[in-house]
Amino acid sequence: MSALIRNCIRKMSAYVPGEQPADPAVIKLNTNENPYPPSPAVMKALQKIDGDMLRRYPDPECKELRAVIARLHKCSAENVFVGNGSDEILALCSRAFAEDNDQIAFFEPSYSLYPVLARIRNVRSRIIRPGKNFQWRMPVDCKAGLFYMTNPNAPTGALYPGQEVARFCRRFAGVVVLDEAYVDFARENCMHLALKLKNILALRTLSKSYSLAGLRVGYAVGARELVAALFKIKDSYNVDRISQALAMAALKDQAYMRANARRIIASRRRLSGSLAALGFTVLPSDANFVFAKPSGSAATLYRRLRARNILVRHFAGRKTGDFLRITVGTDRQINALLKAIPAIRGDKERGE
Ligand code: PMP
Repeated sequence: MSALIRNCIRKMSAYVPGEQPADPAVIKLNTNENPYPPSPAVMKALQKIDGDMLRRYPDPECKELRAVIARLHKCSAENVFVGNGSDEILALCSRAFAEDNDQIAFFEPSYSLYPVLARIRNVRSRIIRPGKNFQWRMPVDCKAGLFYMTNPNAPTGALYPGQEVARFCRRFAGVVVLDEAYVDFARENCMHLALKLKNILALRTLSKSYSLAGLRVGYAVGARELVAALFKIKDSYNVDRISQALAMAALKDQAYMRANARRIIASRRRLSGSLAALGFTVLPSDANFVFAKPSGSAATLYRRLRARNILVRHFAGRKTGDFLRITVGTDRQINALLKAIPAIRGDKERGE
């Protein structure tokens, strides 16, 4: 590749997002989207958008939206930053908090964007191995300037215990970004740490529990100083007018989000139980997906499901390659999956 490109960019591989098929008939259990529609209040807000106002730039500071988020988490708007998806905020954090000769730390397996962000910044990844069955292990001797910690973790669904996370955050010298993308499906969250400690940002997204992955809104809550640093380096108008208006409507309808999250948690229980009955090893999940190990090859099952128009996610690799990550879908989608698995086994036994 051309010498015009920075060395580290030439050498790196891009983040690979989950497949987004054009065919709506595909059963999509591969990118942890919400299977239910967004709040009716969001649809109403969309109809109220004044097309003429799109001539103008949006509020660069997202003032109204940040006030709504501040009320939700009982903090000041100065503790709140809004981004074009939480992915944008994760990237800004790598630029704001990691020095040039620094390291960025994260568990592995975890969100596969983190090592990509480290490579773009041309800093080393400090990989922390989790405990048995991907459960919590206290990171020790970790000198990184920035730690990305997904909790509940992805793709494993493991919830790291709040007290242990708090102990780690208190002793870690750098910034901890607590990526709580899936926390609305979990038993506990760590938002209180972000509002108490100076080195913590809690990241939330509207892509999962609020059913708005297509909108691209995420936010961070934490110490004013950290938030101010993100403001300094962001694009001027990083969140568009439509996203600001619709995000406000979604966040104000907490009852709708909570009801959907409860539904997904109930479906997760059924999906986990049914997969276990089919011989899978299913890890406990606090997210809107399950990480499950089939008795045979996960890669083969992934391909055979795909051939039947059912998409799940398979992460090749030593630790993850034996598992499939399956998003909790609607009852109909789950039933289709549970019917396909024994049918695929039948095909195999018949040698098809
Ligand atoms: N963090 C984690 C752990 C995720 O899995 C995802 C979704 N891929 C994100 C952040 C990004 O979410 P968003 O849609 O807000 O960019």
